[in-house]
Amino acid sequence: MAARAAQMNPSVIREILKVTERPEVISLAGGLPSPETFPVEAFEQACARVLQTDGRAALQYAASEGYGPLREAVAAMLPWDADPAQVLITTGSQQGLDLIAKILIDAGSPVLVETPTYLGALQAFTPMQPQVAGLRCDDEGAVPDDLAAQAAAARFAYLLPNFQNPTGRTMGEERRRAVVEVAVRTGLPLVEDNPYGDLWFDAPPPAPLSARHPEGCIYLGSFSKVLAPGLRLGFLVAPKAVYPKLLQAKQAADLHTPGFNQRVVVEVLRDGFLDRHVPTIRALYRSRRDAMLAALEREMAGLGVEFGRPSGGMFLWLRLPPGIDAGALLAQAVARGVAFVPGAPFYPAAGDARTLRLSFVTASVEQIERAVAALARSLQDALQQRHG
Ligand code: PMP
Repeated sequence: MAARAAQMNPSVIREILKVTERPEVISLAGGLPSPETFPVEAFEQACARVLQTDGRAALQYAASEGYGPLREAVAAMLPWDADPAQVLITTGSQQGLDLIAKILIDAGSPVLVETPTYLGALQAFTPMQPQVAGLRCDDEGAVPDDLAAQAAAARFAYLLPNFQNPTGRTMGEERRRAVVEVAVRTGLPLVEDNPYGDLWFDAPPPAPLSARHPEGCIYLGSFSKVLAPGLRLGFLVAPKAVYPKLLQAKQAADLHTPGFNQRVVVEVLRDGFLDRHVPTIRALYRSRRDAMLAALEREMAGLGVEFGRPSGGMFLWLRLPPGIDAGALLAQAVARGVAFVPGAPFYPAAGDARTLRLSFVTASVEQIERAVAALARSLQDALQQRHG
């Protein structure tokens, strides 16, 4: 086997999910969108339309860049003057991360990531054998001074400004300006991953980093969280200097993203579909976030737990009191009927063992209330054992 195969690891989350997939366990562990939000009927009609009007082209091999009308629709959706020629349709934004790793990382290349960061990005980068360095982060993500201090040698910084996976945190306007200022001043390329930006609950987040500095950013977007992840449809927007290499990597990876899926999504997107559909997702997820926050306030009172208050997305980050290890707590929690993901694997180096991630989108309000109560009871048990 190649040396890089030894660097590959099973996704810790997928391993945990296997253990926790018992019907009696309420899982707050997965990163799945809620299937209630998938617009099945719109897809049914769109599939039929595509097959009737454009069936043979839809089933043929196609261009690696992606289906023209979808590239145009993506460019039109973005809040800056993006050229459709810079849009590359990918097989999920996860593929975008893989392509970026292939063209930007040599063995030993320093790559900067948030602490903690999206596990799937670490999985995509690791086979290229980078030196992954964690950025100092606060409630708004990467701290600009640290970004500047580590910028010189790095190939790129991978940043998630909106409702980050796993912490749910968001960069404010000032922070975005400061981060872009560092990128412009140091020449540090940014990879901006934004699958959750449309899922805001209170107000839209500030403009993406890429809107402020398109020539220095590769932007990743996805249809997974606003339509359905099973489509495997994402996109990247890249500066002219790197687009051709990303395209060549894409050709080698899978020739092109399924043309049928791309046409179906163009069909679904017609007549402003997302403008009607996305607000329904926001409303559902907002009500579940509210239920989880209320349950946490109630059940965790006095237990020494800290948790974030995400203003969008799918995840909430929690920090347990000193001496309580989230990995150890998981077994007790599963025994009480609730599963979560320990936070440590999301860190590029040694992780904070007291952290964990909760998804608030797939369980119902009633399940969320039961799950948080069960989590609180397992924490009480663990605290008693700690004192005992
Ligand atoms: N980036 C982040 C931050 C994610 O959370 C996910 C999905 N969990 C992805 C990328 C990949 O999404 P997809 O490939 O479905 O577009």
